[in-house]
Amino acid sequence: MFRRKDLVPFDKKIWLSSPTMHGDELKWMTDAYNKNWMTTAGENVNELERIAAESAGVKYAVALCNCTSALHLCVKLAGEKLYGKPFVGHGALEGKKVFCSDMTFDATLNPVVYEGGIPIFIDTERESWNMDPVALEKAFELYPEVKLVVSAELYGFPGRMDEIKKICEKHGALLIEDAAEAMGASIDNKQCGSFGDYGAISYNGNKIITGSSGGCLLTDDIEVANKTRKWSTQARENAPWYQHEEVGYNYRISNVVAGIARGQYPYLEEHIKQKKAIYERYVEGLKGLPIKMNPITKGTKPNYWLSALIIDKDAMCKQVRDDKKAIYIPEEGKSCPTEILEVLASINAEGRPIWKPMHMQPLYRMHECIGRLGTIRCKTNAYISGESEDVGADIFERGCCLPSDNKMTKEEQEVIIEAIKRCFE
Ligand SMILES: *Cc1c(COP(=O)(O)O)cnc(C)c1O
Repeated sequence: MFRRKDLVPFDKKIWLSSPTMHGDELKWMTDAYNKNWMTTAGENVNELERIAAESAGVKYAVALCNCTSALHLCVKLAGEKLYGKPFVGHGALEGKKVFCSDMTFDATLNPVVYEGGIPIFIDTERESWNMDPVALEKAFELYPEVKLVVSAELYGFPGRMDEIKKICEKHGALLIEDAAEAMGASIDNKQCGSFGDYGAISYNGNKIITGSSGGCLLTDDIEVANKTRKWSTQARENAPWYQHEEVGYNYRISNVVAGIARGQYPYLEEHIKQKKAIYERYVEGLKGLPIKMNPITKGTKPNYWLSALIIDKDAMCKQVRDDKKAIYIPEEGKSCPTEILEVLASINAEGRPIWKPMHMQPLYRMHECIGRLGTIRCKTNAYISGESEDVGADIFERGCCLPSDNKMTKEEQEVIIEAIKRCFE
């Protein structure tokens, strides 16, 4: 369309969020190489665990090959604590309902399914874009037998995970906190990752700091830490031969990968500062447009991992999405995520839709989602905003993540802001 004809694409792609290395990472990788600790143990692993625990304000961190495996062990630990050891070949949560975040990456709750649990989704709070505590209360009213909640922070902008923890305690339920996106963020000066009975963080390549991969399970309980260490290294018993009483996993982090994450931690604060500046430039630059940026919940300090916007209802042009494709009808003065993402792609910049809520995923078509007004029926077809109190579906419909790479220059971001403005002309 003519209104974006003169937008010039970047020579070099502007990423949503890409790794930013500083030099220390290579030093620790090389150190592992030189000392020949090319395995899943060594000084980098020990140091990473010490730093990760200190940084998150917990007693113990156990470094694993990624956050998904950390979440899997969280789920197994919680399941065995609640329901006892399962028979061999059975899941620790078999047939048990678990309340899970709805608008998140599916890795948050896939481990519930690995262990035979049945996710019931909790709708999103409009004010925070995180799990709605009111909806969670409603869910406990409907299913008082539920004893486990898995809740994630969205894009590094926490909601009230402390309230969620209180609600869990009131109902005798355990909380798993998926802080994969929220390292360095806090709620009332308490670090994200330290609110759950079990916590998990991620060093995936696009997170705020990275090991190229990797993650940690966080806990204040030494028995949990010890069990995690044992299960993640094939569950060997203390015997001269390979003796096994439990099922094991090969989930430990590599000492080389741990060196990368170890080298990144000193730059966590710097990355947060850069991400915050990006967020604030969007707020300033997009002023006057019919949009809002990610909400910042009172009392919380985000890490600003991904900047995202949501378009006001009356400024949405028509947009229809099925399970694979999206189309829209351009309209003067209006836009939609599909258009914005298309324009960003046309200038070689990467944006992304908001996480498609789990209750809208074909995989979870038959699963319930509970909102503050009661049960939301599964919706896998196109959703037209304003039709119901399905908050997650509405934010998915009207929202998108913007390029948030901390190496993006001010000038590059200005071009991106201009491109977004054009969408509303
Ligand atoms: C990235 C992410 C994960 C998975 O992390 P990996 O380290 O890639 O396994 C889990 N949950 C959320 C919310 C994430 O964003």
